Amino acid sequence: MAKITALIENTGQVLTCARDAADLVGAQKNVVVAISGDTIAAIGTPAEIAAAHDLSGAKRVNAMGGMVMPGFVDCHTHLVFHKSRVEEYAQKVIGRTSAEIKAMGIPTGITATARMMREATKEQLADSAAERLQHMLAFGTTTVESKSGYGLNTATEIKMLEVNQILAKRQPIEVVSTFLGAHEFPDDKPRDEYIAEILNEMIPEVGRRKLAEFNDVYCDDGYYTVAESRTILEKGLEHGLKIKIHTDAYSHIGGSTLAAELRAVSADHMNYTDPAEYALLRDAGVVCVVMPALDFSVGHDRPFDARAMLDAGVTLALATDMCPGCWLESMPFVVQLACRLYKFSPAEAIRAGTLHAAMALDRGDRLGSLEVGKQADIAIFPYERFEDMAYRLGRGRARKVLKSGEVVFDAGTA
Ligand SMILES: [Zn+2]
Repeated sequence: MAKITALIENTGQVLTCARDAADLVGAQKNVVVAISGDTIAAIGTPAEIAAAHDLSGAKRVNAMGGMVMPGFVDCHTHLVFHKSRVEEYAQKVIGRTSAEIKAMGIPTGITATARMMREATKEQLADSAAERLQHMLAFGTTTVESKSGYGLNTATEIKMLEVNQILAKRQPIEVVSTFLGAHEFPDDKPRDEYIAEILNEMIPEVGRRKLAEFNDVYCDDGYYTVAESRTILEKGLEHGLKIKIHTDAYSHIGGSTLAAELRAVSADHMNYTDPAEYALLRDAGVVCVVMPALDFSVGHDRPFDARAMLDAGVTLALATDMCPGCWLESMPFVVQLACRLYKFSPAEAIRAGTLHAAMALDRGDRLGSLEVGKQADIAIFPYERFEDMAYRLGRGRARKVLKSGEVVFDAGTA
């Protein structure tokens, strides 16, 4: 009989988000969640659990009638950066173009962040990212992917990945590290020279020191070509780095087809993806990560077509895309945008932010659903039913959050 270390009781709805859930979220009532160490031991009625388990040493976690669900997995972020680009944003919202804003002397875009990044210390970067992670935790997020890509030289890219290591140790959220040297081109060296630096210096060091789990490229018009992306992604594979790709955000140059061919773990953005590619992505098992808040934040003129992708059977995951151009810590807000602007059902959106997002980080077997044997990463929200998460706009703070079976956030009586 497993020794139960924690018991979540007085629950309202419990969502398992289990792989085989017919309603996609596995909504149940009148059940409790029993945890043994860092693992889910059982889900059942209070009587069933009491009959089959030793509850004598279990810490009681009172859900206060709230909704219990897997912690969110935020599977695409640029969490580590220095300062902000608030001046650029304040001009963009009134309709000024990047060129007009630059002419006003305000630095814009990835290269602006890259310049700020070079002067920052690891401690400064870790402090500001940790503050954002605190907010993410309060919104029920228990795992966050964090990309490099504002270095655009070897030393600064490595510095960003070292900050991911610091963050993983000093706060409860699991941080998944992704190398994104191919995010942009630096303005201080020729294109070919920078690509050679990625291939010959950055990737070998990242692989040798195990500084990242994934290798990502920005494959789009004006960024990396399909051929360049393929070379960089294949080089990463040789060094043990799994494949992610940013593509089809602002053009259609073939990045999704490349993702299917290389069996990428995920392909992210998908605004310009050709419907003919949906079946390729689905059949190759590529999870497509879509980010409603990024489109919202930049005022994208071509939103991705989530409904068509869902109807084609593509596995969609949701993420914040937290970055200086889209400052968002809340996955519940992503669920709200996904439902209202992109025709996700509330159940589809919650599953996309939990199980499917875990799959986008190659963690579908360990995270993203409440099932016996999986890690006890759990968020409790003050909702009567799961649709409330989509309906109550601007809300989204969790009541309690557990990471690996421990309560790591508690909003008190909220
Ligand atoms: Zn991104």
